[in-house]
Amino acid sequence: MAGNGASGDYAVRFEAVQKSYDGEILVVKDLNLDIARGEFLTMLGPSGSGKTTCLMMLAGFEPATHGEIFLNDNPINNVPPHRRGIGMVFQNYALFPHMSVAENLAFPLQVRKMNKSDTEARVKRALEMVELGAFGGRRPAQLSGGQQQRVAVARALVFEPDLVLMDEPLGALDKQLREQMQYEIKHIHENLGVTVVYVTHDQSEALTMSNRIAVFNDGVIQQLSSPEDLYEHPDKSFVAQFIGENNKLHGTITKIDGKKSCEVALDDGQTVKALPVNIAGVGEKTMLSLRPERVVVNPKRGECPSVMDAKIEELIYLGDHIRTRMRVGDHDDFIVKVPNTYGHEPLKEGAKTKIGWHTEDARALDWYTGTIDPGMDD
Ligand code: ADP
Ligand code: MG
Repeated sequence: MAGNGASGDYAVRFEAVQKSYDGEILVVKDLNLDIARGEFLTMLGPSGSGKTTCLMMLAGFEPATHGEIFLNDNPINNVPPHRRGIGMVFQNYALFPHMSVAENLAFPLQVRKMNKSDTEARVKRALEMVELGAFGGRRPAQLSGGQQQRVAVARALVFEPDLVLMDEPLGALDKQLREQMQYEIKHIHENLGVTVVYVTHDQSEALTMSNRIAVFNDGVIQQLSSPEDLYEHPDKSFVAQFIGENNKLHGTITKIDGKKSCEVALDDGQTVKALPVNIAGVGEKTMLSLRPERVVVNPKRGECPSVMDAKIEELIYLGDHIRTRMRVGDHDDFIVKVPNTYGHEPLKEGAKTKIGWHTEDARALDWYTGTIDPGMDD
């Protein structure tokens, strides 16, 4: 453990960190998080879940109420922001309007007393990195929003910090530009090997860019994992619903058969099988999570241990798959993605059919009743 002198191979460590602004409500609750050197770690969660607060504590603009933060093994609670050597980009991190782009970039270097020729070389390199090599002489007002945000990224990188924090840096850009910038930032990260802690409420942005994602809700990390693992193996109801599309079936656990199977009496009376992931025990309520592409339509005899009646409410042809909205039990918003492969019977709106699943594809999770505003692209 850090904190008692042992060295860890991490860039950032939050150890039992809590934050309250008013001395009563904890907006960050017992945060424990190690961020590896060179990692791109994203804090993803709905508005108000505590992401910015975590970044502000890491940057040194807000004190932690409890706990300790470490940078490269050193406790930093008492280190002022400008001595932490952290680059930062924010959504509204205004550039100095009266300075040229090159002067904006030179500023953090002059503050660090770098000489003129080194400064010029660094500024040039940083501008080339964000493909603005020809724009050094312009004022920020003469650049588009996307170009200004690239200057902000270059300014955060110009003094070659080991750690860069980005808080919704692309929030003000339109969708197309945002997606382009996601790739640019990702490639800059790959080329420089710098550690990035990135904050967003946008799941597709998080999935695109990150090595690992910490999913926040209510001041607590719900799950910390790779993008693939969060989607394939959510272990909390909140995560299953916040990331990707998810079908829910509610019921009560009636039997647990070891680690690989349990039986659930659904609220509409039918008993099905699922993978026990995060359940309290027999007699307790659970939410089954089923991804739309894992549901089998009209399964062959014996193919699926769990089969339910379904009615096709709506078909949307999307080329590679057919998006099918079904009535299943008392849900009429059960979504199934049927791959557009040769040979299956055509689906018809209004028709009755069956759906089924392999037991490992129905994850039995905790009963979560809070509202969830999924982090979708707008
Ligand atoms: P996020 O970035 O995930 O949207 P924040 O960290 O900004 O969340 O906010 C977490 C909670 O802390 C929210 O309830 C917010 O209203 C509150 N909060 C944030 N900043 C302050 C502040 N400076 N003073 C008081 N409360 C704050
Ligand atoms: Mg925020």
